Amino acid sequence: MRTVKRLQPFSSTIFAEMSQLAAEHDAINLGQGFPDTDGPAAMLAAAQEAIATGQNQYPPGPGIPALREAVAQHQLDHYGLQYDPATEVLITVGATEAIAGAIIGLVEPGERVVMIEPYYDAYAAATAMAGAERVTIPLIIDGDGFALDHDALHAAVTPETAMVVINSPHNPTGTVLSDEDLRAIAQVCIDNDVLVLTDEVYEHLVFDGRVHTPLATLPGMRERTLRVSSAGKTFNVTGWKVGWISGPAELIAAARAAKQFMSFVGSGPFQPAIAVALGTEMEWVRRSSAGLQRKRDLISAALTEVGFGVHRSEGTYFVCADPRPLGYHDGAEFCRDLPARIGVAAVPVSAFVDHPEQWTHLVRFAFAKEDTVIEQAAERLRALS
Ligand SMILES: *Cc1c(COP(=O)(O)O)cnc(C)c1O
Repeated sequence: MRTVKRLQPFSSTIFAEMSQLAAEHDAINLGQGFPDTDGPAAMLAAAQEAIATGQNQYPPGPGIPALREAVAQHQLDHYGLQYDPATEVLITVGATEAIAGAIIGLVEPGERVVMIEPYYDAYAAATAMAGAERVTIPLIIDGDGFALDHDALHAAVTPETAMVVINSPHNPTGTVLSDEDLRAIAQVCIDNDVLVLTDEVYEHLVFDGRVHTPLATLPGMRERTLRVSSAGKTFNVTGWKVGWISGPAELIAAARAAKQFMSFVGSGPFQPAIAVALGTEMEWVRRSSAGLQRKRDLISAALTEVGFGVHRSEGTYFVCADPRPLGYHDGAEFCRDLPARIGVAAVPVSAFVDHPEQWTHLVRFAFAKEDTVIEQAAERLRALS
């Protein structure tokens, strides 16, 4: 293999393998987390209009002013968080580039980046690209949900920590961190004077009346926190790759130094369309989130009926299920069998961890799919019982 050592662990992904298997067996793909319906019509029209009216060249490096203003306004309206659109908001090529830019721009080689395990793979890859070291804080399986291990949090975050990455609502478990968790994270980050990167791409997709609280709203946190979000999950446009990062100007400048030489800019005609969506389509998002809650209920009920141990999903596109009652003890093996066996694809949670012990069995299903698709998947899953 010619790939540099630090990236060798990232040269192939289980998601690609499962999607390939899904395609081979014409399976319903509940592995990859993308929606199968389009976002708000006004937003789609605004992108077409932007292309038709010649907004097809490089936008300004930090993003078009209208979008930076809309991102700042959105955070003020929803959370009372104030960011200067000129210096404290940066538009990126999806949340992925925001994450990479922040880690590469702010973490020195050899420094430590702490993340919650299971973790979204981009945090680990960006940490490796920065030549930094990954340290994990496990979630613990707690009844039908998951809990943050506060002892592990306190052990992991030390004065040697450069950055803590927090993802809530959490992919792959669907966990929304509690106020108590957020307070504990804030305290330990303040005590050790570390930076925090919060991945909040599912900020609007929370269920059962829960509210999402950005960590940056806690006392003493705004000045050390970089908040990341993206249009992809909020507005069903994962292919547009429009993301953003907000925080103190000095931290944004660091992320921008890296971002400039990864892509310089991206998503030209999509930027004005997302500005429109942030301004006028939050009612669409509320309906979308209510629809996702119903889809969560559909898939959870179907999995329970088949005999899976089903975990509580409090937000996101995902629910985790335990196939051990059906006789499968290895989630990865189960996922490799599933497309050929019944025509459904899922991904093993072990793909998101360094310490597989408590995660070997667990499987993640994505439910941001049309109801008919979920019903069809449910029908196929019944063949397992
Ligand atoms: C999908 C996802 C991302 C990536 O977002 P993009 O805007 O597509 O780059 C980042 N973090 C989490 C937790 C995700 O699920």
